[in-house]
Amino acid sequence: MSRQKFWRQIRLPRFAGEANLPDKTYGQELSCHIVLTLAHSPVFSVCLRELRVWAKALAARIICRMAMRELKQEVLRYARQMMFDGLARGSQGNVSAIDRASGLIAITPSAADYSSMTEDDIVVVNAAGDVVEGRWKPTIETPLHTLVLRRRPDVGAVVHCHAPHVSGFAAALQPIPLVLAEAAACVGHEVPCAPFMPSGTAEFAALMLDVLGRGNAAVMGQHGLLTCGADLRRAYAAAVAVEDSARACIHARSLGFTPQPLPPQVCAELHQWWRVAYRRKGIASSDSA
Ligand SMILES: [Zn+2]
Repeated sequence: MSRQKFWRQIRLPRFAGEANLPDKTYGQELSCHIVLTLAHSPVFSVCLRELRVWAKALAARIICRMAMRELKQEVLRYARQMMFDGLARGSQGNVSAIDRASGLIAITPSAADYSSMTEDDIVVVNAAGDVVEGRWKPTIETPLHTLVLRRRPDVGAVVHCHAPHVSGFAAALQPIPLVLAEAAACVGHEVPCAPFMPSGTAEFAALMLDVLGRGNAAVMGQHGLLTCGADLRRAYAAAVAVEDSARACIHARSLGFTPQPLPPQVCAELHQWWRVAYRRKGIASSDSA
């Protein structure tokens, strides 16, 4: 009798006496006896339970690793995009995104050039900002990223950049009015400006969270721009939109005109439409709503 046929004919009994065993050799009979004895022993049930727990934990770890891998790739893509779009140069700015299932955050490393950065350079930190995985120090703005992600459950990603036209407003400590429909749709409110404070501290993070309020963009006084969103795509779209509005304001003024902010009600309605209509697209496609 083939081995497969033998095992196919064995039915696990409720108790050993119900075993429906085929004709067998002494060795096969002994094997059956061992299997049945083990199957009915309390030790076996405990082992089986432990095995299930271990398998579940292993599956959860694998799923978490896969999710973090994807998140790290996305953080790297948007960090590079920030450089390509001229919103940051060299190692300026930083990008983060959270995996809500595990609470882990993928974040760009400190003082690393985006052009040579790889997925393995992206650091993984927990909600407190402690490094969980990665060979580099996370960005100096980690307290800001982790605070926003902790306090805003609606936010899944944070972007900080040194967008050149936003910097004009940041230098003058001025809020940025929304003068273009797309900017109004992406952001939904005039972009407030925080007073200057040295960054990288818990105090600075608290100040920016306060200025950000329930919005998704705020100017860091004499520094740069902070945006956030449900995911990196939305957070990044907000950064581009604010920079576009800042540029339009500066161009209008340079032509001798006064830029006209869209009324708050119109901004709110456009933003509501954008939140519903905005669909996920590849990073290569336009960020236009
Ligand atoms: Zn900065």
